Amino acid sequence: MTWKTIIGQTRVQKMLQRCILDNRIPHALLLTGQEGAGTVALALAFARTVNCESPVSTASTIAPCETCHACVQGASLQHPNIRVVASLPSGKADTEDELKDDVIAELRDAIQALAIDAYNPVRLANATQIRIGQIRELKRSLSLSAVQGGRRVVIILNAEEMTIEAANAFLKTLEEPHDDVTLILTTSRPERLLQTIVSRCQELIVPPLDDDDIIKALLDRSLCTVDEATIIAPFAQGNLQKAIDYLSEDIRALRETAVNLLRAALKGKDFRNGLMDAVEEAADGRNKARADAILSLLALWLRDAHVIAMAGEGAPIINIDHRAALERFAAAFGQADFPAVLAAVEQASRHLARNVSVQLVLSTAMLEIRRVFAATRITDRTTS
Ligand SMILES: [Zn+2]
Repeated sequence: MTWKTIIGQTRVQKMLQRCILDNRIPHALLLTGQEGAGTVALALAFARTVNCESPVSTASTIAPCETCHACVQGASLQHPNIRVVASLPSGKADTEDELKDDVIAELRDAIQALAIDAYNPVRLANATQIRIGQIRELKRSLSLSAVQGGRRVVIILNAEEMTIEAANAFLKTLEEPHDDVTLILTTSRPERLLQTIVSRCQELIVPPLDDDDIIKALLDRSLCTVDEATIIAPFAQGNLQKAIDYLSEDIRALRETAVNLLRAALKGKDFRNGLMDAVEEAADGRNKARADAILSLLALWLRDAHVIAMAGEGAPIINIDHRAALERFAAAFGQADFPAVLAAVEQASRHLARNVSVQLVLSTAMLEIRRVFAATRITDRTTS
């Protein structure tokens, strides 16, 4: 994975290459954006470029040669200077050395998948924390001298998942920079990082991809037809991983499930049985990825309703084939506190990533959404 396999992100690519060309390589970088927009792909391309033995450069670009020993090692993520740190599953193990065999195999497979395609997510089952043991081990290895020339690059995936102890230990590492080391943090939630960590990093914003980039990336990977890619791209919101997740499911059926959840939650007094059935259907065998896709689609549907409520009929929306239903919904609930409703969906999505029951997460979210919408209706009545 080098620069040329990166989708879009020309501005960020140029900035990273400029640092290397000018020999002003930062000790700490923070890449803020979705993994599916390319944060990890950019970090890996950077790591490979600074480690290549004979990089190919022009006045404004620099790329790895792809043939030297370091490039071959880097391409399979076997280069001793390139290291990826990811969250570990909950349990006793505090460092990678203490993990159970099945988790080690899962981690190895994830890193291999990342080497093949830097847009593949590194997500171990129930992994939600980067622990202090991992940061201590990192510190120890950085204190030793490098075994190979080049520059050591440590890529911390989803850095906001560091525990508070890990974050504090990491802060010390940031405060004592090594000459030949660059720490790259990736995150989609910079607000959850310690401010003291953020302020010590050079931050680069990695924006969502364009729909056209998503379509091209799906087609380049031979994942679907042009028609399917065109339907899915707007729903992916600039995140290739989301687009790929949607491909494995029938997106229209998933959206129907999402809208059914909402309808069931907003029924009259005797809503509970209907809501339980809808939650059961959405939770389908505790499939977290599917439930997360349903939540994303629910959020997009609600966002469209909000846009129509604010901008009126004809407003630009994503669910264009649902416009009539959305307009009816906006007419009935347009005054609702949509930011609060969307926050409930967002929180549900975060809870899913933890080891929480899918049913519980979905029913809690839908009850909260019901509460917010019900408050609007009461307000309407009292003000009219
Ligand atoms: Zn090379």
